[in-house]
Amino acid sequence: MSEFELSATPPKSVRTRGSQRSIIRELLKLASKPDVISFAGGLPSPKSFPVEAIEKATDWVLEHHGAQALQYSSTEGEPALRKAIAERETELSAPVEADNIQIVSGSQQALDLIGSAYVDEGSVIAVENPTYLGALSAFKLQRPTFLTIPTDEYGLNPDKIGPEFRGIRFAYVIPTFQNPTGITLSEERRKKLAEKAREYDFWIIEDNPYGELWYDHQPPKPIRCYAPERTLTLGTFSKVLSPGFRLGYVVGPKTALDPLIVLKQAVDLHTSTFTQLISARCLDTGLMNAHMPAVRELYKTQCSCMLEALEKYFPQGTSWTKPDGGMFIWVTLPEYINTDEMMKEALDRKVAYVPGSAFYANEPELNKMRLSFVTVPPEKIDAGIKILAQLVKERIDA
Ligand code: PMP
Repeated sequence: MSEFELSATPPKSVRTRGSQRSIIRELLKLASKPDVISFAGGLPSPKSFPVEAIEKATDWVLEHHGAQALQYSSTEGEPALRKAIAERETELSAPVEADNIQIVSGSQQALDLIGSAYVDEGSVIAVENPTYLGALSAFKLQRPTFLTIPTDEYGLNPDKIGPEFRGIRFAYVIPTFQNPTGITLSEERRKKLAEKAREYDFWIIEDNPYGELWYDHQPPKPIRCYAPERTLTLGTFSKVLSPGFRLGYVVGPKTALDPLIVLKQAVDLHTSTFTQLISARCLDTGLMNAHMPAVRELYKTQCSCMLEALEKYFPQGTSWTKPDGGMFIWVTLPEYINTDEMMKEALDRKVAYVPGSAFYANEPELNKMRLSFVTVPPEKIDAGIKILAQLVKERIDA
């Protein structure tokens, strides 16, 4: 028996008192039981990890830069990695220098640092409706007011951005293969969002973890290309190399990165030197480019498999997004079906999803769910979707 009461804590800070554990994390505990078919997690497929290539890169780093890899390093990040990322970003989007890259411990850390650096209690920040749950959790620590950007089937609608956006701290957006919807914003809307940001004088926080996971064609260029002077773009190695590395980066004007550096010094001094050097080696040797086609093919096949199953089993009155990349499909059920409530029964029948309500900053929509298709084998995707369809049908018939 522990000598401590389970509820014992030192007096809690205001920040902690207001925050709750992520329901996805709580849910994942149940969903990760081996007999559950889980469409709930946001994990990349373990099949996508280039284990042998990382082993080679690791050996090379230890052989050539062993002492450096195991030592403390600078808060900004390892020069070799910043340079390699700057070259890659220049090639994929718009020109940047190594000085415009801040290395972080996963893009989740960037969200937290940006919240701490740029949001005060009561500050207004704009988010898509729905948006990434982890961003909401990070920003909520600062107790902001959320303004939601109206969204339609093509993603956020910049035409609906009006004078109420003047003076907000920033708009946080995921324009490519969005989490949770899988939707990609068109080039036209990206340009228009950049124009609106200038017109109403706000910054854009562009989160781009999925941009490389396209299936048949590359997505439009990042929004940073259209408003580089007022955009911070977040990148990560989590979906292209390894989430276990906890390695991400922020691209943007150096002046806007400086406050993040000051905070990061206090938070963790710097991101792991070891994984930074291994990743730099993976970029320099072309591993990343060589590795991506197999990941894209895998995810495309998995996505088609889930779309086929939805088509086959889901009843009339339901609809879903058809992503061109990424990891998620967003399903809409008839308005009277509450996916929060349905979740318990789904788990009883050994299937898991994430209820849509988790992804709204303000008023939640209760008839949505996020399905991740990347980690479940095809035959189980079919079986799991069949069970979910049955649950939905029972509610439509009732
Ligand atoms: N942003 C979005 C939109 C995400 O989906 C995720 C991961 N699920 C993250 C940020 C965090 O990624 P990481 O910290 O692993 O880079």
